[in-house]
Amino acid sequence: MSAERIYLSAPDVGEVEQHYVLAAMRSGWIAPLGPDVDRFEAELAARVGVDHGVALSSGTAALHLALIALGAGPGTVVVTSTLTFVATANAIVYTGAEPFFVDSDPATGNMHPGLLREALRGLTAAGEHVAAVLPVDLLGKAADYGEIGRVAADFDVPVLADAAESLGATYRGRAVGSLARASVVSFNGNKIMTTSGGGMVLTDDGALAARARFLSTQARLPVTHYEHSEVGYNYRMSNLLAALGRGQLTRFDGMLGRRRHIRETYRRLFAGLPGVQIFGGTDDADDNCWLTAVLVDADVAGWSAEELGDALRTLNIETRPLWKPMHLQPVYAGARSLLTGTAQRLFETGITLPSGSALRGAELERVASGVHDFVNVYS
Ligand SMILES: *Cc1c(COP(=O)(O)O)cnc(C)c1O
Repeated sequence: MSAERIYLSAPDVGEVEQHYVLAAMRSGWIAPLGPDVDRFEAELAARVGVDHGVALSSGTAALHLALIALGAGPGTVVVTSTLTFVATANAIVYTGAEPFFVDSDPATGNMHPGLLREALRGLTAAGEHVAAVLPVDLLGKAADYGEIGRVAADFDVPVLADAAESLGATYRGRAVGSLARASVVSFNGNKIMTTSGGGMVLTDDGALAARARFLSTQARLPVTHYEHSEVGYNYRMSNLLAALGRGQLTRFDGMLGRRRHIRETYRRLFAGLPGVQIFGGTDDADDNCWLTAVLVDADVAGWSAEELGDALRTLNIETRPLWKPMHLQPVYAGARSLLTGTAQRLFETGITLPSGSALRGAELERVASGVHDFVNVYS
């Protein structure tokens, strides 16, 4: 393998970010909070149109604290999507609550609202306390918050959005981050924007934001002698990383546009290939295009998603299946779920392709010619 490796979604940082981080260092605000944290929170909250942002050390930490703030804990259930990254389910378990997995809408892979209703009906009829519904915006497409919100409201359960993958996306004209009681975004290195590692809770609920902020700093009460009346966490984002995030925000629209361009390139590349479709439908307007995936019907195409991945790997091009559903993970084998087989089928037939905004034109061409060469063998 001589050619340089092409990654799925590499961090996209440069001089702007260097300037922001250096300025933060020179300001002396190192340890660990400072004005860049406050500004980063305010800037992102304003961008998505909510009143509060709480910047934390990871998206997982943000899920954990938002769930606690919504009352998740021992003796409660949180209903979530089976087709997700494991962090969603792990955060539920950290609180002591029990995760309950529901299957996907075939078009988007997101939580199926009809199955959610069935799950909530069964759980509440059995007298169980559901603390939250936790939909996940798969690969950057918002879940059906209109319908999910209605179903959850019918059972008087709050919705927490796992928007770790979908910052920048919209749903019926409204920004992700503003579509649920609270939303969680991630700034991990492979996400649409990065702070190298980080996350944020976004919400209009001032009490929820205050509770998450309080728990993130060891639940330290505002007195000089470090008074603690409950167990807290060390989950706050550092000022240096918030500065990096502020630099990324100045470039956010450009990075979003680049991912959209990559999506369009893949649409042209795969157009007219029998048995192959771009995952998530035909309309990218609401999508942040975080990762582009294709679904392959191997009987029609004559080749499988896995075979395409193998071929690209020999060219040093990274691909990945869709998330392996939680109900198929050994660690969650005992969890309750409501399944149709959709998530499993998407996992078995889908493959995600290099989609990062740092992907250069020549690299995208290398991926395209790799796909071309592979497909030509079968036609
Ligand atoms: C990335 C991701 C997370 C976790 O975010 P971290 O910042 O890596 O902790 C949670 N949920 C989903 C769906 C993700 O993709």
